[in-house]
Amino acid sequence: MNPALLAQLGRIAGAPHVLLDPDELVAYGYDATMGYRGAPAAVVMAETEAQIVDALAAASEHSVPCLARGGATSLSASAVPPDGALVIDTNRMRRITDFDAERRRATVEPGVVTRDFRDYAAERGLFYAPDPSSEAAATIGGNVATNAGGPYAFKYGVTRDAVVGLRVVTPRHGLLCLRRGADDSVIDLIIGSEGTLGIVTEITLQLRPMPAHRTVRAASFPDGEAALRAVAEIMESGITPAKLEFLDDITVESLERSRPWGFPRDAGGLLLIELDGDEAEVRTDAARLDDLLRSAGGGTDSVDPARAERWWEARRGITASLAKIRPAKIGEDICVPYSQLAPTFSAIKQAADDADVVVAIFGHAADGTLHPNLLYDPSDPEERDRAFSLLPIVADTGLAAGGILSGEHGLGRVKQPFVDRAYDAPTLAAMRRIKRAFDPDNIMNPGAMWPTD
Ligand SMILES: Cc1cc2nc3c(=O)[nH]c(=O)nc-3n(C[C@H](O)[C@H](O)[C@H](O)COP(=O)(O)OP(=O)(O)OC[C@H]3O[C@@H](n4cnc5c(N)ncnc54)[C@H](O)[C@@H]3O)c2cc1C
Repeated sequence: MNPALLAQLGRIAGAPHVLLDPDELVAYGYDATMGYRGAPAAVVMAETEAQIVDALAAASEHSVPCLARGGATSLSASAVPPDGALVIDTNRMRRITDFDAERRRATVEPGVVTRDFRDYAAERGLFYAPDPSSEAAATIGGNVATNAGGPYAFKYGVTRDAVVGLRVVTPRHGLLCLRRGADDSVIDLIIGSEGTLGIVTEITLQLRPMPAHRTVRAASFPDGEAALRAVAEIMESGITPAKLEFLDDITVESLERSRPWGFPRDAGGLLLIELDGDEAEVRTDAARLDDLLRSAGGGTDSVDPARAERWWEARRGITASLAKIRPAKIGEDICVPYSQLAPTFSAIKQAADDADVVVAIFGHAADGTLHPNLLYDPSDPEERDRAFSLLPIVADTGLAAGGILSGEHGLGRVKQPFVDRAYDAPTLAAMRRIKRAFDPDNIMNPGAMWPTD
């Protein structure tokens, strides 16, 4: 990296907060996506918005690629830097700067960890709904950049639905201060743009009252298709589950191998369902749900609160437990109409069988999200290649089912090569113009998400 730029960065953030040592930079070359790696040239550990404004201006002046980094839990390699990039780490920006319980609003810095914020709100009697399973490490800034969802997304919305204000630094326009109601179209471009349009420096979030009552059901089915057909029936019945999670047999097996959680090991497909609301509503919906699950062929079980808590913890840990089946994986993420969940599941299982790859499939089934995890052993290059060869097939299967390339993880570097399969030429051209409007020199996270020229 240009010495003049390095000197400038030292003046901006203070030399101890600029990392240049290759041993320290190694960790910044990865995120949670296996099989992808970059080689950044420097990291600025920013503490203030002003430092980000100045660092981005300096990177622009020297045409150096720039990448914001929160918890690095991305599963689409969106936080894997391009070689030679300047990484702007937001983990020192962890303040909740305002909390207005009466208006149910909070303003936070981008590096606030999602679970810390959800706990902070809960301690004050309020509910922050977006709950990515990575919440113990992911940041609110990263959630905004990827428009993160989670088990509660179907009923309570994704991160976009909670954002009422943003401050974002862009290469072309500098610092933008955006409010819902006034600047919605720009806010909605920034949310989910994976750090490719600018760096979010402050977020104002809308909170909700805590749901009064909850109850959890588990239903096991002879196979994954039957479980996913039951999902379609639940959704058509008019019941609105707070959470409706699907786990296939390989996922259940991996969880039980990692720790004896007490899941039914013989389940071919498992649904974990949470209902919430006022007491009478929960009771009525639970009775209807039990009938529906039984007639769909599911062995249904009411789960006591302590076991439910354990099982939600297990659910959040699926990604790690899959290592019990194969040491590595590529975690796919597609979203299809719920009527297409069962056929999409079967088609992907079949493609994986044909390619001799083990695939574990789970997901937030209520909103149509499926995560086919293609498992492989990195010490077996042929198996690794077979797993990666399934990426376009999974993308095409989701698109053919009327779905979209990503349910929640974003496109990043993993799905970017398939963007032109999902949109027609005029739409792709419009996307390129949007990117240029914020980032004319393509310095923000180049190579992620957007169609190339
Ligand atoms: C075990 C596990 C479970 C997961 N479960 C879910 C889930 O249920 N739902 C879900 O949606 N995702 C899930 N994910 C994916 C991931 O956690 C989310 O995409 C999350 O929102 C990323 O946040 P982060 O802070 O880790 O961002 P990072 O990984 O650091 O970055 C992700 C992207 O956001 C950009 N970015 C980060 N901070 C900023 C900022 N301040 N301004 C602009 N751009 C920024 C980065 O440049 C990058 O493009 C999971 C991941 C793991 C490992």
